[in-house]
Amino acid sequence: MKRKMYALIVCLLVLLTACNQETTDSDGLENKKSDTVTEATSQVEYEMPNDLIRSDSTVIDDSKTKSIITSQESYQIGTYIKISIYADKEVPSSLFDELFYTIDQYEKKISTSILSSEISAVNKSAGIEPVVVSDGLWELLQKGISYGQVSQGKFDITIEPLVELWGIGSDHARIPSEEEIQKAIALIDYKQVVFDEADHSVFLPDEGMGIDLGAIAKGFIADELKEIIIARGYEHAIINLGGNVLTVGHKPNSDTWSVGVRDPQGGQTDILGVLYLKDNSIVSSGVYERFFEEEGVRYHHILNPFTGYPEQNHLQAISIISEKSIDGDGLSTSLFVMGLNDGYTYASTRDDIEVLFITDDNKIYYTEGLKDIFMLTSTLYEEVGRYVE
Ligand code: ADP
Ligand code: MG
Repeated sequence: MKRKMYALIVCLLVLLTACNQETTDSDGLENKKSDTVTEATSQVEYEMPNDLIRSDSTVIDDSKTKSIITSQESYQIGTYIKISIYADKEVPSSLFDELFYTIDQYEKKISTSILSSEISAVNKSAGIEPVVVSDGLWELLQKGISYGQVSQGKFDITIEPLVELWGIGSDHARIPSEEEIQKAIALIDYKQVVFDEADHSVFLPDEGMGIDLGAIAKGFIADELKEIIIARGYEHAIINLGGNVLTVGHKPNSDTWSVGVRDPQGGQTDILGVLYLKDNSIVSSGVYERFFEEEGVRYHHILNPFTGYPEQNHLQAISIISEKSIDGDGLSTSLFVMGLNDGYTYASTRDDIEVLFITDDNKIYYTEGLKDIFMLTSTLYEEVGRYVE
């Protein structure tokens, strides 16, 4: 009897070990499989925010590009988002989970309207103490400072007191008094921000100072999304974060993507021309994005940190074509405030970006590289091309 029991236990042990072996093996197999596209994301469950506004997948079998286009849309970071991926089969929804989750995670770090965000913690501690920030936010802040240097302070991440004061695009938008404006602009100076490399802490030395990353957040996030899409094995996609468009690769049946340039005087979907782009980003800034009007004057959301008012420099809009969307976003706001003359001069010194300016007399100026890849489609505008002072 004892011997029988012993044999049974040995048998059970052997079986258990065998089972374990199998589990390990199949794990290994899964890991290997995760190099391929479809399985990669389905392994991870993302805790999606309850209030996320998001569509299901739209799947189009597109004969022109000979590909399956899977798209999803969402409303996040205060903007409409659409991501379309071109592949040989439907893209699993779990990849979109990952993309929308990533946007949500960044929004929770960098939004000034979320009181628990990291940036809100930095702003609340102004004049009190430094706050340690996460790597992504640290990197974004350094980038923000660099556009301040490029534009000699016309782009300034410490513009938050002025953004808050005007409230453009919010329910408390109004024209502030001169005194309020002077008080707010006295608090703006990106050079005052104390960065401690050792612990990645950020300190705003004066009470009332605040950081606003609204001008670069979308570009930064778009770049992160592109990295995820590529890492999951996809080569052709279009990421659209409220008009910030970032392309992945080229259109499957063509060398380029055709991306519309928004008509600043038209509606949301009206374009004035088309740009043929490959693997790069187009970001626009303009007076049409967010504004209010009072007594015939338009007060829009791109503010001049020196005057304290929305920038009025005869530009309607500007578009930047760059490899990274963060550069497009940072520079579109920067060069908008710098104006046509200084903006064009700066753009000409950089061979990695191209710029298109639309002035309020409906003329279109652009840097050399756009000559062959921009096509005007609207008769309202005049294509001038190179700007000569
Ligand atoms: P959008 O976000 O509408 O695409 P922008 O990228 O040009 O447009 O960013 C505008 C936002 O940037 C404003 O809503 C504000 O939060 C912030 N901002 C406005 N003026 C400046 C400035 N001079 N420097 C830095 N940020 C600014
Ligand atoms: Mg911008």
